[in-house]
Amino acid sequence: PVRIAGIAEPRLRAVATREAAAYAAARPHSKAALDAGSGAFLDRVPMHWMKDWPMAFPMLVASAQGAEITDIDGNRIDDFCLGDTGSMFGHSPAPVAEAIRAQAGQGLTYMLPTEAALQAGELLCETFGDFRWQIATTATDANRFALRVARAVTGRPKVLVFNGCYHGTVDETMVTLEDGRTVARPGLTGQVADLTRTAACAEFNDLAGVEALLAPGDIAAILTEPVMTNSCMVLPDPGFHEGLRALAKAYGALLIIDETHTISSGHGGYTRIHGLDPDIFVVGKCVAGGMPTAVWGLRPDLAERYLAYDASRPAGHSGMGTTLSANPMQFACLVATLSQVMTPAAYAHMERDAARLEAGLAAAITRAGAPWHVVRVGARVEFICAPGPLRNGDEAARAHQPEVEAVVHTALLNRGSLIAPFHNMMLVSPATTNAAIDRLIASFDTLLTELFASDP
Ligand code: PMP
Repeated sequence: PVRIAGIAEPRLRAVATREAAAYAAARPHSKAALDAGSGAFLDRVPMHWMKDWPMAFPMLVASAQGAEITDIDGNRIDDFCLGDTGSMFGHSPAPVAEAIRAQAGQGLTYMLPTEAALQAGELLCETFGDFRWQIATTATDANRFALRVARAVTGRPKVLVFNGCYHGTVDETMVTLEDGRTVARPGLTGQVADLTRTAACAEFNDLAGVEALLAPGDIAAILTEPVMTNSCMVLPDPGFHEGLRALAKAYGALLIIDETHTISSGHGGYTRIHGLDPDIFVVGKCVAGGMPTAVWGLRPDLAERYLAYDASRPAGHSGMGTTLSANPMQFACLVATLSQVMTPAAYAHMERDAARLEAGLAAAITRAGAPWHVVRVGARVEFICAPGPLRNGDEAARAHQPEVEAVVHTALLNRGSLIAPFHNMMLVSPATTNAAIDRLIASFDTLLTELFASDP
């Protein structure tokens, strides 16, 4: 038979049908409630990504606490998606919930700082290093604003990004490589501007390719994650980040490191753990414990350059900022998270338990004889339905097996473990128990044994 990621196609289809039916059978209340009450939304969901889960309909969540989600049908699920990193430290961490309660009666937004804001600034420097910070609401916005600053101070038009990257819905980054040329991603909705005028795309781990794009002198900044996490995970080759830093400097471009996912690496992010040296540091999602918040910081010397530019630009809109950003609830949650939740002790727990998950999944893959592999960056673990390691975005794109992934995700969910949609990512929070990890490993093992059993 035809094989997909090593699995005989008829077997894959049979398991897919069985698991889809089991998912629906366990969720009559979610189904009925959606049928009756979702018509007010465009395409029946409040955000279109909710259609990208592999299930036929989303479950309605009743509550989430720690590393567990309960749906309205009463299914209790170990959550390894954790809001795709927004809740990486667990749902409603107690210090953050308390900070929200305390701020709730003191006003929610007023376009003025608080004393907690000053404390948050100090904590950001202590945690991530000596940067001059701004608060945004999403990592998308933080990246957009960082790119504006980079273009302003360098006077150059383009950002260099890597094939297969994702930095939020930032127009300038929505490019890909086609036969070695930078082109706009074909799926973009309502795209009019020519993105190749403001972006250039290289392969990750290809320093010669990066240098060739820097040589003409029109690149304002290199924007990269330390590890590519948004396709199948790609680790940097030894020396790659040192090379990027040196090339950016040599060609007068800035280096922007987006830690929004690699904040899983450990306290202070991949930058601190591995000694990276960005000009601009960006992190969002979990930085305020799940309260919508992102931060971006400039190195002091770059801050000086920017302020000189700012003093000389014409009056009027800068194109940076949003009204609800830097609100008092964000400051309260930043302080609570940075001082009590995102701690070295929490990371030690996450690191240890994520290693347990990585080892268990890898052992199951070996036992089943699957041509798959596992990658981990601190608390972030991913199984990939293809051999590895992967070296760049092109290899990562070809490693994706959407049909297989949909079956595995649904089967794991039916056995009580939720993993992130879009890819095969699992996060281990400080609240994740060994029992939950072992359940996930056991389900994965059983499923792979079935999928890879020799043909009858
Ligand atoms: N940067 C990276 C590396 C991301 O993975 C994401 C989201 N997945 C973003 C930025 C954008 O975050 P948000 O959707 O919160 O704007």
